[in-house]
Amino acid sequence: MWSSPAVPPAELDVLVAGSGPAGLSAAAGCAAAGLRTALVAPSLRVWPATYCLWADELDAAAGPLGLDPAAAAARYSPTVVRTAAGGERRLARGYARLRNDVVHAAVLDRFRTSGGTVVTDRVTAVSGRTVVLAGGERLTARVVLDARGSGPGTAQQRAWGEVVAGPVPDLVPPGGALLMDWTALAAPGAPPAFLYGLPLDDGTVLLEATSLAARPPLPLPGLRDRLAALLAAYGLRPAGEAERVAIPLDGASRAAGTGTRLGAAAGLVHPATGYSVASSLRLGPQVAAALAEGRDPHVVVRAARPRTTAALLALGREVLLPLDAAATDAFFAAFFTLPDRAWSAYLDVGSPPPAVAAAMARVFAALSPAQRARLLGGVARGALRLTRAWAAGSGR
Ligand SMILES: Cc1cc2nc3c(=O)[nH]c(=O)nc-3n(C[C@H](O)[C@H](O)[C@H](O)COP(=O)(O)OP(=O)(O)OC[C@H]3O[C@@H](n4cnc5c(N)ncnc54)[C@H](O)[C@@H]3O)c2cc1C
Repeated sequence: MWSSPAVPPAELDVLVAGSGPAGLSAAAGCAAAGLRTALVAPSLRVWPATYCLWADELDAAAGPLGLDPAAAAARYSPTVVRTAAGGERRLARGYARLRNDVVHAAVLDRFRTSGGTVVTDRVTAVSGRTVVLAGGERLTARVVLDARGSGPGTAQQRAWGEVVAGPVPDLVPPGGALLMDWTALAAPGAPPAFLYGLPLDDGTVLLEATSLAARPPLPLPGLRDRLAALLAAYGLRPAGEAERVAIPLDGASRAAGTGTRLGAAAGLVHPATGYSVASSLRLGPQVAAALAEGRDPHVVVRAARPRTTAALLALGREVLLPLDAAATDAFFAAFFTLPDRAWSAYLDVGSPPPAVAAAMARVFAALSPAQRARLLGGVARGALRLTRAWAAGSGR
């Protein structure tokens, strides 16, 4: 520890670049583990995006971060999926929305009270153990953790969200979450998009028109217009600021040699869903423990995203990308007939490869022969594309 937390000490153990979920959780973990830690970030504003994860993922991440799981998130039950092919399915697995203000404040407080130093600046270059700041200053640390987010990628998840007065029981189950409704936004010839909906703490409801994955990404105005048509049909009016979602699904990772990468910068984003918050919150304290015990943090990061799992999930995304709305609907109708354990494994970048491969095989088996034939064509094309991208050193 050092006496003046406003100024980083000459001898830093850890320097963290970026204060998203990945950077902040790692910085707090490192400081709490007694490591002399500095966090470089252009600002420490509360994360503005609506961040969701599965309730069990929140419970697993909360303890090591010192979070009270009851305060850290709103929980939903049931979690509903609707498809034209399979009707409404109520998943037993609970869903949760982070209370960003609570989580951000708690994790930042843990960092500060453990002696961490905030440096308000941008990192312009990382060279080995030295970081160059936009202000020209150089900081050196035993370890640099790079959590500056990912590049833009060629495939993205996109969504347009509006807040409306609640409840809206015809769309979002009271007390529950609408994970996916592939029927609500369906229109002849329109690209696949589903409705996502969550009750918020003030009684309003967030509704989002979401394109799960598209290359090139769907333009946001198209999603906005499809949501507007749905709201008009239900007599609902936007009551707040719109949420615009753009999540790179195959964003190039930051160049090697820039320290240990974390979160989206390390490709911890799920290749098909864009989710990474749960894995980032889980990883921060694990990396901190490794550093405090003198272990190699790269090993921990690699274990959080086994390569073969990442390759299988990337292939899964490539297979989904060319599907039209009807085929996507049928795919998710089949996907959610799997036991919770099977589809949950597919949604986690940290799952062992056999669990992901088994989930893929089970979805395949649950599809009709015509759908299977279509998917097989996608597997061949997807594998070819990924092989080329990996050979060129890009793509996830
Ligand atoms: C609207 C929206 C909703 C989303 N919803 C979900 C969700 O429900 N669940 C989920 O898992 N994911 C969701 N995502 C995806 C989410 O963005 C990522 O999962 C998550 O933010 C990645 O965290 P991260 O800490 O790795 O990177 P980021 O959140 O991108 O954080 C990177 C940080 O680095 C800082 N930074 C950048 N450059 C520099 C620099 N040069 N020097 C210093 N600091 C720098 C940035 O200011 C930023 O604070 C959503 C994204 C959006 C946009």
